[in-house]
Amino acid sequence: MRANNRWLASDSIRCPGCRLHTDLCVCALLVPRPTRTRVVLVTHVRELSKPTNTGRLALACIEGARLVERGHRDGGLASIACEPDSQPLLLYPVPGAIPLDAWKTAQPAAADRVTLVVPDGTWRQTKRVRYRIPGLAHLPSVCLPTGLPSLFRLRHAGSSQRLATLEAIAHALRILDEPEIAERLMHIFQVVVDRSLWSNGRLTAAEVTGGIPAGASQDGPRNTAEQKLRAGQAPAAALREQ
Ligand SMILES: [Zn+2]
Repeated sequence: MRANNRWLASDSIRCPGCRLHTDLCVCALLVPRPTRTRVVLVTHVRELSKPTNTGRLALACIEGARLVERGHRDGGLASIACEPDSQPLLLYPVPGAIPLDAWKTAQPAAADRVTLVVPDGTWRQTKRVRYRIPGLAHLPSVCLPTGLPSLFRLRHAGSSQRLATLEAIAHALRILDEPEIAERLMHIFQVVVDRSLWSNGRLTAAEVTGGIPAGASQDGPRNTAEQKLRAGQAPAAALREQ
């Protein structure tokens, strides 16, 4: 009955950094690394708290990467500020978007000073980003090569070729930047996906990239729930129907 207990799956036992259950936390891997490419993530505010959001993980691994939040009820409009010497590009597969590798071939000098603006959220949310953020509609749009398979099995994206935000950033940096940063991002992504699938009983421990931390439970950090219950911080129902 492990997955049926909603409290055990609640935010209170998730790491605030990586949003995994605290006993599966990957924050130790989230070390910012320098890149030539400046990354700006434009994230819908409802997306930020989702455990399945991968944009935040990429943000934590790229030195100087920026988060621009959109979708706040107060209606305040964010804007994207780019350095004067930078070439802004919108990474999104709109009709007419140029494949990024072809863009780089045509603009080799500019490829070293790109500000890559990456919409993050559901496909429905991100479709409107260009028209919601001042200045984005006029940016050159680039897309990734077709046929890149997604490893993301936590969220139904509707197509195995619809990439998670972290995957899209990694593939873009593989083209624009050093391959090592792309490989590192993909490794972290694989660890996160595997640990989550193990937690759901969809992978064995032996199949998990990098293994499972000692003491981790597929039922989530139940001990934490027990401790909170003893401290009077958790509803008694949290520990019923295990
Ligand atoms: Zn964490």
